[in-house]
Amino acid sequence: MLTTLDPAVKTRDAHERLNEHYGVDPIRGRVDPMHELIGTILSHRTTFANERTAYQTMRERFPTWEEVRDAPLDQLIDAIKTANYPEIKAPYMQNVLTVLIAERGSANIDFLWDMSTDDAMAWLNRLPGVGPKTSTLLLLFSFHKPVLPVDTHVHRVTQRLGLIGPKVSAEKAHKLLLSYLPADATVLYNFHKHFFWHGQRVCFWYNPNCTGCVLNDMCDFYQSGRTAVLSSTPVRKK
Ligand code: SF4
Repeated sequence: MLTTLDPAVKTRDAHERLNEHYGVDPIRGRVDPMHELIGTILSHRTTFANERTAYQTMRERFPTWEEVRDAPLDQLIDAIKTANYPEIKAPYMQNVLTVLIAERGSANIDFLWDMSTDDAMAWLNRLPGVGPKTSTLLLLFSFHKPVLPVDTHVHRVTQRLGLIGPKVSAEKAHKLLLSYLPADATVLYNFHKHFFWHGQRVCFWYNPNCTGCVLNDMCDFYQSGRTAVLSSTPVRKK
């Protein structure tokens, strides 16, 4: 039987359930916003351990942001090679640093504290290679702005539950889910973190552990016999 609740009500119910299951924490971001910005670019499609190694190696070889900006591309790629796709990430980082230093005079983004959420999002999304996922992670974790990062885990779990429609993209999910939740950075941080964890630990891409899931009574995907075709979930090739 599929649930027929208003998606806003269901979103808040699922959020409460995961709050009880995982516990509520204050926001914990990196202390240095520049580390969060560059670390978030490095973190795409790689593990936290690989991202951390790449960041540390890069900072050892190129201690200032100007040195990262001006580094020979092949040497920067080598420094961050533990993160996947270093040949894509290295020019992205250099382009971001080039624009940032040219516009603001230094590699410092503390001015985002004083900007409205919309203006800060717009400014970040103008940077080369920075999209909604990077900007929302940075603004929520480092600047405590009320935005909601939707990565592959958050996208998959919310779609399987039926909080967003079967064809809704991660980018559209960001605005939709945000409209269902209070504009409170701590609430949104815990929502993001819990759905991310749930995707990593229970609601796997293939073979989600539905019988052990605390959300299974409200999950459209489970209640439909796990047959729904969803834009967030690839179909396994046979
Ligand atoms: S019941 Fe299954 S598909 Fe639904 S959220 Fe839980 S693990 Fe994911």
